[in-house]
Amino acid sequence: MSTLVFLEAADDIGLQTLTFARRHDPGAEVVAFGEAPQVAAKVHVAGLEPYAPQAWARAIAGLRPTTVIAAGTDRGNEVLAHAAVMLGGVFAANVIAADGDQVTRQRWGGSLLEEARLHGEVKLMTVAPHTVAIEEAPGEPEVQPFEPAVEEADLVARVVERVDTSTGGLSLAEAPVVVSGGRGVGSAEGFAPLEELAGLLGGVVGCSRAVTSAGWRPHTDQVGQTGTKISPELYIPCGISGATQHMAGCKGAKKLLAINSDPEAPIMASADYAVIGDVTAIVPAITAELRRVKGAG
Ligand SMILES: Cc1cc2nc3c(=O)[nH]c(=O)nc-3n(C[C@H](O)[C@H](O)[C@H](O)COP(=O)(O)OP(=O)(O)OC[C@H]3O[C@@H](n4cnc5c(N)ncnc54)[C@H](O)[C@@H]3O)c2cc1C
Repeated sequence: MSTLVFLEAADDIGLQTLTFARRHDPGAEVVAFGEAPQVAAKVHVAGLEPYAPQAWARAIAGLRPTTVIAAGTDRGNEVLAHAAVMLGGVFAANVIAADGDQVTRQRWGGSLLEEARLHGEVKLMTVAPHTVAIEEAPGEPEVQPFEPAVEEADLVARVVERVDTSTGGLSLAEAPVVVSGGRGVGSAEGFAPLEELAGLLGGVVGCSRAVTSAGWRPHTDQVGQTGTKISPELYIPCGISGATQHMAGCKGAKKLLAINSDPEAPIMASADYAVIGDVTAIVPAITAELRRVKGAG
């Protein structure tokens, strides 16, 4: 086999990855775990669940690919790092374009692009999310179940429990609206009005690293270089200064409405709209106005 795509799900990021892989190799095959995604390709499906990064990498390595492509997500990067070691391959993360051995990839949270050459028999790449326009390829998948040879030690790190984050099934990476809070929100309790606003707008709540470091929100809510990369239609950072590491995660947003008491805050340079004022007053005021307009409609 030449090119193998590790597909976590047939969602937007998965389909972007598949489009990238097909451009690289039209005969690219897919490997998936649990359910077979309904995509037009040969799909190898291993009934190996729940998530266990080393075991999934072992399954991928067992298919003897010469190129492996995955999404540049936490799981994509983790599984391919293991697979690269097992296959003795070279691995480039957050690639946006590839031509033979030559790749262009994002570094420093996307603030610079690097041209690199992959030297090695086996090449592994993850694709930076939201950098490829999806091209649908119609057709029925040819599904091929397989039993990977997994060792006991491969299962030491695995998912043992899932905790519902009560976002109504919307993920931070895919939500059309994200209302994020920063240090300016003041406390964990200060996020309740942001939750309410996000709920009204059909979105989810995110946050800055200052907030996760303070223990006000879980790391899964963090937007940024070391958090989730988002590309919503509307991003509303509340009490967030706009440090480069935060902006690295939200520069894909189509519109940005900043709420901040400091008109000189760096976030203003990226804002399409801004409200200068105290977040504890502005957010409830927006929510009240939205309720009034919705009620009137
Ligand atoms: C290697 C590395 C990786 C990092 N990765 C990330 C990352 O992924 N994501 C991330 O977010 N950060 C990341 N950081 C941290 C980043 O550098 C900043 O420290 C962090 O983003 C600051 O968070 P903040 O904007 O909430 O807080 P601050 O910078 O303290 O800003 C608070 C803002 O709130 C405003 N404010 C205060 N009170 C109010 C009020 N009542 N109403 C309205 N506005 C108010 C202030 O004017 C200020 O602009 C990283 C740093 C490093 C070194």
